[in-house]
Amino acid sequence: MTGMRIHLRLVVLSLAVLLSSSGSFGQQLSKEEVSIVHSVDEEAPPAVALLERIVNINSGTFNPPGVVEVGKVLEGEFQALGFTTRWIPMDAVQRAPSLVAERRGTRGKRVLLIGHMDTVFEPSSPFQKFVRNGDIATGPGASDMKGGIIVILSALKALRSAGALDGAKITVFITGDEEAPGDPIEISRKELIEAGKNSDAVLSYEAGIREQGKDYASTARRGGSSWELRVHAKTGHSGGIFSAEQGDGAIFEVSRILNIFHDTLREANMTYSPGLLLGGLNIKAEPNGDASVAGKANIIPGEALVRGDLRVLTPDQLARVKNKMLSIVNSANLPGTKAEITFSDRYPPMAPTPGNVALLAKLNEANRALSVPEIEALDPMQRGAGDASFVAPFVDVLDGLGANGTGAHSPGETVDLSRMPLQSKRTALLIYRLTQ
Ligand SMILES: [Zn+2]
Repeated sequence: MTGMRIHLRLVVLSLAVLLSSSGSFGQQLSKEEVSIVHSVDEEAPPAVALLERIVNINSGTFNPPGVVEVGKVLEGEFQALGFTTRWIPMDAVQRAPSLVAERRGTRGKRVLLIGHMDTVFEPSSPFQKFVRNGDIATGPGASDMKGGIIVILSALKALRSAGALDGAKITVFITGDEEAPGDPIEISRKELIEAGKNSDAVLSYEAGIREQGKDYASTARRGGSSWELRVHAKTGHSGGIFSAEQGDGAIFEVSRILNIFHDTLREANMTYSPGLLLGGLNIKAEPNGDASVAGKANIIPGEALVRGDLRVLTPDQLARVKNKMLSIVNSANLPGTKAEITFSDRYPPMAPTPGNVALLAKLNEANRALSVPEIEALDPMQRGAGDASFVAPFVDVLDGLGANGTGAHSPGETVDLSRMPLQSKRTALLIYRLTQ
């Protein structure tokens, strides 16, 4: 059996060398790249075993010891590939630490690979175990995104066996709190942003999206901000409403503002949605969504509160929409009322920059050389923000390069094991070409 495999490999190698020297087929695989591709295939069975091992360790975001246990397994894998590893503590934001693995070369572009080892499934979830059924496996984090981490590792292993890691500058940044980033972001994402600023290309391994036989990656993702609208008004007997001394009350004013938002703010690639609305007296609203209010039919409401969401594609759009909302809120408040709005930005937008598009084109050169279909840019409306968003303002980024799967964030999440080797080959070739 072994002899047969060696023989086949020689045939594949010489065929590829033949093709690459003919030059008539456009982009082809070099001899080194053929051996990288072959290594990924050889590595496929142990890669599934490693995925099973880390899926079976609970690493819910709010279970830091479990996240660290997953990280320790990964740390050993990266060290075996000649990476230096370090942990970034997140005690200050009550989260598990991030794991960073680095090779400090100087050749070619500086590449940053982003992953996360936490999942939305806490120890209390009934969904805890990896179950394989043919090419499909279910398990917490199977594709979001422990599968993505395995895609990274298999690619790096293949590059290592081809000697292609030597001299390259590659950083792997694996956060332990992607599903609920520690607050404030200025602390929990400080080092990730730093790593982005010190890179030329960022590849992120959120689950790969595949629809009707076509693969998609993200060159753009919308950012996530939230807004809070507060209205204060004079309170008193309802019979006095609209009078000069009582005014119109907080609920009419908040309704007026929301109507103008509804009617006038719409733009392509942008959404805004009020998620919580309270009006009356004694409003209490917790960050976790719990809220209470008092009020009576015969009392003019003295306060109103709205909390909402705002998702935009570019920094310009964010500034423009915020300004419009501000001027609506600040102008012509109803008699006896005063409104104010504040914003907080959670994720910056990942705009569809020429650099991101060029990175996808580079990946598609590798796809053509592999004789597999090209990857298309995903509609940014189809994917929410993630860790890649934090570095997108500073460097070229591609996201959604991880394992294909379904049902992320719900019990029954799957990963397609049969497609993981292809995802690793794409990654390995792209890294290889970027770091030459
Ligand atoms: Zn994820």
